[in-house]
Amino acid sequence: MTARTLKLDDALYGYLLDVSLRETPLLKRLRDETQALPMARWQVAPEQGQFLALLVKLTGARRLLEVGTFTGYSALCMASALPEGGSLLCCDIPGDYNATALRYWREAGLAERIELRLAPALETLAQLEQQGQGGKFDLIFIDADKANYPAYLETALRLLRTGGLAIFDNTLWSGRVLEVNAQSADTRAIQALNRALKDDARVDLSLLPLGDGLTLCRKV
Ligand code: CA
Repeated sequence: MTARTLKLDDALYGYLLDVSLRETPLLKRLRDETQALPMARWQVAPEQGQFLALLVKLTGARRLLEVGTFTGYSALCMASALPEGGSLLCCDIPGDYNATALRYWREAGLAERIELRLAPALETLAQLEQQGQGGKFDLIFIDADKANYPAYLETALRLLRTGGLAIFDNTLWSGRVLEVNAQSADTRAIQALNRALKDDARVDLSLLPLGDGLTLCRKV
């Protein structure tokens, strides 16, 4: 027994997947196809996708926003957990991988629930605010350019309803958050976000060591 989070070696991680991962054949195919891309590391871990779907159901979220969609794996997980009438708005920049996301969403029969907007996410989010969408979202998953994470937090808090959930991926950043005098702007931004969230009274907080680190912020 241990009073701290376990260190997962390959065998224990394999066991975790073996006894709990319920990945559909379609999701598995999407994940395999994504693995062949040069940016494959952008893909969330499958147990993270399943957890995001569970969060959608647990919170009863109906209006979802995703910042950073890539080939659409996490979006597919979350959209499949939406109730009738629910919707997911995805933000990404134009790339060859957009077509992969759209193709899999169609194949899953979920394309109607998902809208993909291709522009720098901060522009799309600012537009949403201008269109009076502040306070209208139930859950926002953020997994895009890390240097903008602090800015995404501020926007997310304006777009979320009270009690809504902002979720940040990669908040342990393969351990690089431990670097002193980090040179990478991405690393520094994640470090800044993590430090700031610790004392941010606007949110309830938990950093889960799931995948590359998943931080949950509930808007107070
Ligand atoms: Ca990620």
